[in-house]
Amino acid sequence: MIVVMNRNATEQQLETVLQKIRCFGLEANISRGAERTIIGAIGDVRKLDTGMFNLMPGVEQSMHIVKPYKIVAREWHKDSTIIDISGVPLGGERLQMIAGPCSVETRQQMDESAMHVREAGCRLMRGGAFKPRSSPYSFQGQGVDGLAMFRTAADKQGLPMVTELMDVRMLDTFMEYGVDVIQIGTRNMQNFDLLKEVGRLKTPVILKRGMSATISEWLMAAEYIAAGGNHNIIFCERGIRTFETAYRNMLDVTAIPVLKKETHLPVIVDPSHAGGKAWMVPALARAAVAAGADGLLVEMHPRPVEAWCDADQALNPQELRRLCLEVEAIAVLVRPAGLQNDVPLEVEIRAA
Ligand code: PEP
Ligand code: MN
Repeated sequence: MIVVMNRNATEQQLETVLQKIRCFGLEANISRGAERTIIGAIGDVRKLDTGMFNLMPGVEQSMHIVKPYKIVAREWHKDSTIIDISGVPLGGERLQMIAGPCSVETRQQMDESAMHVREAGCRLMRGGAFKPRSSPYSFQGQGVDGLAMFRTAADKQGLPMVTELMDVRMLDTFMEYGVDVIQIGTRNMQNFDLLKEVGRLKTPVILKRGMSATISEWLMAAEYIAAGGNHNIIFCERGIRTFETAYRNMLDVTAIPVLKKETHLPVIVDPSHAGGKAWMVPALARAAVAAGADGLLVEMHPRPVEAWCDADQALNPQELRRLCLEVEAIAVLVRPAGLQNDVPLEVEIRAA
């Protein structure tokens, strides 16, 4: 940690800063330059926070000089990164919607889903062929057959496919099917071997937040991928575990501005796995977009009551359509591009 004093800081102000550092059991090193004085705190500086110094009289700025992450840090890359997902930009001016069923079930379900996803105006489709289920007796996904069904359905509608990779042994198969975005699920956020393997590719990766992961751990997990050479990383907040049981997970909206400040990479939000109930999804989605999310990952099923997985939280096609219009209206206000689509919003919202 270093504390930079103002050019006209007094000796007394300098002394107060030194005392503060020492009261944390740290040593202080003073460097008096021609222009200004810089104090370096030495020792376990994790005890210190920039907020402790920034408001002190005579202090110009204080900063931690070493961050545990580098490639993903905005400190090293000022401009926001736009990721090209098979021609669809994510992280730029436009809000992007990724929607689709929790799991791939049948050809018909995927064909219908893809049609509804596209008709709602979403540019990307989700669906899990390999499902991380809490119980080994629950439906585990259609596996490779599911990838094939997904690919066919997505291609018919011109939608890039987003699907979860759980086992590194499936990586070649994912490449064969041309998976456009690899999703690393919450349970694998710190599966470092998996992260290293996807780090060797160029395929975009959605890195979901571990259900109890701190933002720093999450950034470090992304750094694993980036360190291998794959910088096409998208963070996805999907709710964290807390003491609350009224909903599935607590959507950490605060993580959105924090991440946008810490990293140049896009940040999206999954309101479905946060709320866990379809009726909560629109409210959480609106909050996420208002808070600066670059996109949303939403579960939708042509007939939610028939869904094989996460039926409670699936929107139906009409609800997805409405949600897209609502969040688009918010994006118009909060994203720099202004109007995102050519659609006359007011008319469309009333019609939905
Ligand atoms: C999913 O997106 O289908 C999923 C399993 O999500 P998470 O890893 O966030 O639980
Ligand atoms: Mn799900």
